Parts: sequence; structure tokens; C-alpha cells
Amino acid sequence: MPPQYLRIPGPTPLPDAVRKAGSEQMVGHRGPEFMELVKRCSEGMNPYFRTASDVMILTSSGTGGLEAAVVTFLSPGDPVLTVSIGNFGERFAQIARAYGADVTMLEFDWGQAADAQAVRAAIREMVAGGRTPVAVQVTYNETSTGVTNPLPSLAEVIRAEAPDTLILVDGVSAVGAIPMEMDAWDLDVVVTGAQKAWMVPPGLAMVAASPRAWAAADAATMPRFYFDLVRHRDALPKGQTPWTPAVGLFFQLDAALRLMEAEGREAIYARHAACGAAARAGLAAMGFELFADPDNASDTVTSALVPDGADWSALNDEFRVRGLQLAGGQGKMKGRLLRIGHLGDVTVDDIVTAIEIIEQGALAIGLPVEPAAGPAAARRAGEGA
Ligand code: PLP
Repeated sequence: MPPQYLRIPGPTPLPDAVRKAGSEQMVGHRGPEFMELVKRCSEGMNPYFRTASDVMILTSSGTGGLEAAVVTFLSPGDPVLTVSIGNFGERFAQIARAYGADVTMLEFDWGQAADAQAVRAAIREMVAGGRTPVAVQVTYNETSTGVTNPLPSLAEVIRAEAPDTLILVDGVSAVGAIPMEMDAWDLDVVVTGAQKAWMVPPGLAMVAASPRAWAAADAATMPRFYFDLVRHRDALPKGQTPWTPAVGLFFQLDAALRLMEAEGREAIYARHAACGAAARAGLAAMGFELFADPDNASDTVTSALVPDGADWSALNDEFRVRGLQLAGGQGKMKGRLLRIGHLGDVTVDDIVTAIEIIEQGALAIGLPVEPAAGPAAARRAGEGA
């Protein structure tokens, strides 16, 4: 088997220290060892959420964190505005609908970011119709398209038009890799997931909530139990989680946070920006058409169109026999996109390697790619970023 290069936008590769931490013996989850561990993990994440609120850690994938954000703070019938720029925006809306929220969708073309003025207009229309949104759902980084929303300006507009509206943010593929300022941007709930920037296997969702959100939780009436964040909030000062947690994943998160602290937040963000620049330049130099609007292209996942006449599964087979795992398109872009994940434990060298393999795969199916142009462009952009 060739060396394996896992370049999907999660699960992301585990550093050795994180793999090793996964082989630790169990400890009791109501004892002092776990108490210390959960506090360390929670506090260790604050610098990446940038909030004075506690970061709660749920045993579930990211979707569970999004569900928690819906059921803890909303009531059936609540008007909700969902700003959707792709598959995960649609999913956030589906969760709200499943629990009876009255969802209005504001959809943008896939590949584009949300436009703040359109968000303003949508809120005004809802307010004028007597349906002031109780919450706005926004995806920070849309993994299905490789677009990062201009979250600070969206949040500013939402706050200006509807001061009491909760801003619920899907930050699953963003937090820990690109800047997040939960308090400064006045966001109410931010969710992320272990298998993305955090370099931990899937199975943990991390969620922080603002004082405004906690006030709303008292009156919220959606059915909630496992994903009741009030129970998580109240357990945290005791160094506990309400239910038996995935203890092994907490060991691994603790190890990953130590690595992140050693590297430093700004260095982590710079490394992701360099990898994003490298991926975009490498693909473009090989003639792939980048899918994301260049002004809002993501630094955690890069998407490009599968060239006309090329078959995604044939192309992907060529990547896979060379050890490269990429992601394809999702939802309506299935079979039409390739996506390179570059979050977590990834360097510009890793991106250059991925671009080399993409070049080989493209040549193998007969695409007209100029040899060596992609890797050279990727390296230049990555080192210049
Ligand atoms: N939201 C975004 C932006 C994601 O990228 C993902 C996973 O890829 C999810 C939500 C869902 O998270 P999970 O698959 O961990 O439930």
C-alpha cells in the first residue's frame, strides 16, 4: 500500500501524540482525574472561541452540537432565519424544522458567500411581517463549497436589525483553524467538532453560549434531554458532563490542545492561510476551475470543479491508488466537485504532495495538465502567503 494522505475536511489526520493519548487507560468520569481533564480541555479551547463563556464538550459529532443549539434555546413555532450557502446551511435548517421552528431560508448560490445587505433585507421583511427572528442560523465555513462567510459583517447587520435575535453559528470546520471572535462579534452560540481543526477522532462537539442565549434557554420549550446544554453548563463547574463522556477522546483533545498551545494561535491561523493559498494556486495552475468566490475562499477546504468530460469516480480512483483521499461534491454538487481538506495537522508540504498526486491522477485520465506547474505554484503560494 502506498503512503496514505488523508486530505478530506474531517476526520483529519492525528498527530502521534494524539494517537498515543488514545491508548490511555480509562479513568472514572466522576473522579478527580476526569475533573481536571475536562476543565483543562474546556479552558484550552477558550483562546480559539475567544469568549468569556465556558466551552462545553458534548459526546456527539458536530451535528449533535448544532441540535443542542436548536433545542436548548428555541421553542416550536419560533421564527428562524437560516442563511444558507450550501449543504451544511441546509442541514442546520433541517434540524430547526425537525423541532418545529418556523424556518425562513435565505439561500445564496453555492460557491458564493452570504451577502450582508441581503441578510439585512430578509430580517427587515420578517420584522415587518411580525415574525422577528428569534434566531439566525449561519454557517461560518461551508465545507461543502469551500466558502468562508464574512461572519463579522453578517453578525453586525443581524445585531443592528434585530438586537435580541440569537446568532447561532455552525463553526464546525472553522474554529481552531481560522480566526473566531465569539464575544467581539457578539455571537450567541458557536459549535465545532473534534475531527476538524482539533486533530481528534470524531465524537466530540464543542459548544459555547452567550449570556443572551442562556437567558433564552429558561423560556425555550423545544423537547430536550441528551442535548440540553443547561445540564452541560451546570455540570461543567463540577468538572463533569451530564452523561458518560467519551473519556478517551478527552485524553486526545487534551494532547491536541497542548500541541496547539505550543504552536500558538496566530501561527496556526497563518499555517492554514498558507495551506489554503497553496491548494488554490496548485489547482488553478493545473487548469482546474476553483469553485469558491475568490474573495471568500476557505482556508480549511478548497473546492474545484471536476473538468468537463472527466468522471469524478475515475479521477478519484487514480488518487486513491496513489494513497490520496480527497472529498467529492455533496448534495447537488455530487460528482461535480473535488475538495481538498486542509485543516488540523497539515503543512504546505502536505498540500504540495496532494497537488503532485492530483496532477498524476489528472494525467492518468488524459486531462491536459502541464507537468510540474501545479506543485510549483502551490509551493510558491504557500511560501509567499
Ligand atoms: N457543519 C459543517 C460546516 C461541517 O463541515 C460538518 C461536517 O463535515 C458538520 C456540520 C457536521 O458535523 P458532523 O459530521 O461531525 O456531525
